[in-house]
Amino acid sequence: MFDWSEFNYFKKEEFTCKCGCGLNNIDENFVFCLDEARDVAGIPFKINSACRCESHNKKIGGVKDSAHVKGIAVDISARDDKSRFIIVSALLAMGFKRVLLYDTFIHVDMDLTKVKPILKIMK
Ligand SMILES: [Zn+2]
Ligand SMILES: [Zn+2]
Repeated sequence: MFDWSEFNYFKKEEFTCKCGCGLNNIDENFVFCLDEARDVAGIPFKINSACRCESHNKKIGGVKDSAHVKGIAVDISARDDKSRFIIVSALLAMGFKRVLLYDTFIHVDMDLTKVKPILKIMK
């Protein structure tokens, strides 16, 4: 079991699957690193999507073998260039090796089965 009180910025609910199934298999070390990155950034990280069950992942068009299903990914809202810069800088400073940039959010994961390091603009 993991102790959510050890984190300064995140609550368990923020990482639960959005479909209502209640799945929350988020990795503790992943949240630890995210919490540190949030501290470095000094601005809020709004989590758009974290854990996903297989069916929710499929429904919203997530990739097969998604790191979200494995509980080692989050999408962080970033709606302007400045916050995107601040969040990405903090993630890289914390040693995250997989950062994908979308128009309105940043995907970051710790999936060691996927290519790394990678900083990619997603269309
Ligand atoms: Zn679900
Ligand atoms: Zn994602």
